Amino acid sequence: MTARRAGAAAAAAVLLAAVLAAAPKRTHKDPARRETGDLAFVRGAVYTVDGARSWAETVVVSNGRIVFVGADAASKPWIGMRTRVVDLEGKMLLPAFHDSHVHPISGGIESLEVNLHGIESAAEVLEKVRSYAAAHPNASWIRGSGWELTTFPNANPTRAMLDEVVPDRPAYLEAMDGHSAWVNSRALAVAGVTRETPDPAHGRIERDPKTGEPSGALREEATHLVSRHLPRRTAKDYEDGLKEALRQANAFGLTSLQEASASDRDLETYVAFDRRGALTARVRASIYCDTDKGVADVPRIVDLRRRFHGRRLVAGGVKIFADGVLETKTAAVLEPYLGTSGDRGKANLEPDVFKELATALDREGFQIHVHAIGDRAIRDTLDALEAARRANGVRDSRHHIAHLELIDPADVPRFRRLGVVANFQPFWANGDKYLTELTEPELGPERSRWLYPIASVLDSGGVVAFGSDWSVSSLNPLDGIEVAVTHRAPSGEAPGAGGGEGNPGPPWLAQERIDLPDAIAGYTIRGAYLDFTEKETGSIEPGKAADLIVLDRNLFEIPASKIHETKVLKTFLEGKEVYSAGE
Ligand SMILES: [Zn+2]
Repeated sequence: MTARRAGAAAAAAVLLAAVLAAAPKRTHKDPARRETGDLAFVRGAVYTVDGARSWAETVVVSNGRIVFVGADAASKPWIGMRTRVVDLEGKMLLPAFHDSHVHPISGGIESLEVNLHGIESAAEVLEKVRSYAAAHPNASWIRGSGWELTTFPNANPTRAMLDEVVPDRPAYLEAMDGHSAWVNSRALAVAGVTRETPDPAHGRIERDPKTGEPSGALREEATHLVSRHLPRRTAKDYEDGLKEALRQANAFGLTSLQEASASDRDLETYVAFDRRGALTARVRASIYCDTDKGVADVPRIVDLRRRFHGRRLVAGGVKIFADGVLETKTAAVLEPYLGTSGDRGKANLEPDVFKELATALDREGFQIHVHAIGDRAIRDTLDALEAARRANGVRDSRHHIAHLELIDPADVPRFRRLGVVANFQPFWANGDKYLTELTEPELGPERSRWLYPIASVLDSGGVVAFGSDWSVSSLNPLDGIEVAVTHRAPSGEAPGAGGGEGNPGPPWLAQERIDLPDAIAGYTIRGAYLDFTEKETGSIEPGKAADLIVLDRNLFEIPASKIHETKVLKTFLEGKEVYSAGE
């Protein structure tokens, strides 16, 4: 632990006591002419996330804005007959959370289909599919996602298993990693996939070793043989998906979302919600850029930004996919994957093309949001953003790189130097089997030490913001906060550690853990910075919007391994309650 971060933690603990006796803080209006608030939170543990990371007891809101933050004793003049008073009884009040990398619409759509995320036994998977099919008798296809390769022998679930629970309609279930699909006999029949069908160039049809018949699992491009027959998703599917995503986001205390890859249909859906006042989160959208087209795609993106904006929607970002993922060796790495003959993965853009594209987007005033996972893709991205800065001059661009699984140590200080925000998904640093069984063996111990170096980037002075990448992983920011602090799976069990609450096992990479104040900042004020809304959201200060959440316990008073058990009780957006537990 560094002195800087140890200091922050100590300061946070001491400030609670100090603030209770303090005078009222800055107020929005002249106290002589003030009106009482319409909403007040009293007797709380208010962690403000202001510059001093100070604590307070009372927050008063008027017309959606915070007008008072301070001690209970000083708040009386702000509370009147028309004030709705919420007695926090010592519970925690935080600024509402920001998710800096999330796919709300596709995540919502998936939640409404067969959602197999987190189910660990084959029997439970099949039961879930069976009950979904029974509950949706009119669905022409049974469609879902989220099953894990490790649930089935040789990652190879069969169509016979699926036929038992869905005999009457085609079924298509995507694996959690998106690289395999599991289908039933009806789906294979609809697609005309038989023993005679050859494997596509970049894919494989798993087959019964005796008969040669397709056995039900499809890999990579073979999935397209069936997926192209799926009914096209309708505008209603998009609307239902967004509605579900907003419901879940608000329940987890989120009121600001950085949409990580928006299509024109996504943007249409956001705008429609915004116009009718149904967008219960601020959305900053990164518009998907086709890297095959490169700069030729820029005019289309400029046009989408012009057409789609609203009160809570800004389409000010562009999303570039720089590489793939480590587990399948498609992430672009500087040194070859172990056990291969020189395989360094695949960068989606040649360095010169990337520089040209970044420079063109930067010139148009976009915030560039890059998916980069391998250390080579990350270096190429930093080089491209540096080239854009050299060509166009320094501006307040707040470009950012998401995922950042493997950063070469030489590149760590460049985030600060280039003003590039490190947009980590901290939940992924939990030491699960994807890391220990798939990722670390292909990198070796020396390079694996540089997986998710969150603390190193913070220590170098870089800005670190956090996101979920939902539906890839949990939408709950408290899960991400816990893993950022513990580097362990939020269940409290480490693989092979014997499990159980009392035996959580060692942290996965102890030196890259961060402290609770930094973890909270990653989901609040740093997210606000990334959204260009830090004067509006991300902390509890007079003059800011009342985007606030009530938690059922004080995160500073519980063991870090219990953070994921914390519940959001209420969520407010601009002073309006958008979620209340139990309602
Ligand atoms: Zn993503």
